[in-house]
Amino acid sequence: MTCIFCQILARELPGEILYEDEELGIIKDINPEAPIHLLIIPKRHIDSINSLDETTAQIGAKMFLAAKKMAEAQGIQSGYKVLINNGREAGQQVRHLHMHLLGGWKRMQGRR
Ligand code: 5GP
Ligand code: ZN
Repeated sequence: MTCIFCQILARELPGEILYEDEELGIIKDINPEAPIHLLIIPKRHIDSINSLDETTAQIGAKMFLAAKKMAEAQGIQSGYKVLINNGREAGQQVRHLHMHLLGGWKRMQGRR
């Protein structure tokens, strides 16, 4: 199976991995839509929310907690967005569940 997020987390493809533990990795989005745009990705391949079940759903809580910690680490805890595109119709391009973490707008304003 070829999945770019599985390959990035396995270091078979290049990617800026900012954090990882046993269950998930956090990488920089290659095409950022905010000053800070990270992707929180379970290591286990799960296509989308639709594939979650009672045994795998706990990864959702882990992803939220990782978003909170990474927002603090990036200094954007005062305001950030988390987003999951679920399904092609909703704009999901990569069929491996991931949460977008977007922020840093205030920091950009400060630079002007
Ligand atoms: P989706 O549209 O599936 O919710 O989000 C996929 C995201 O992955 C997009 O924001 C896109 O820029 C990002 N992306 C796609 N290919 C790569 C890649 O090879 N490396 C990284 N770091 N991000 C990618
Ligand atoms: Zn995958």
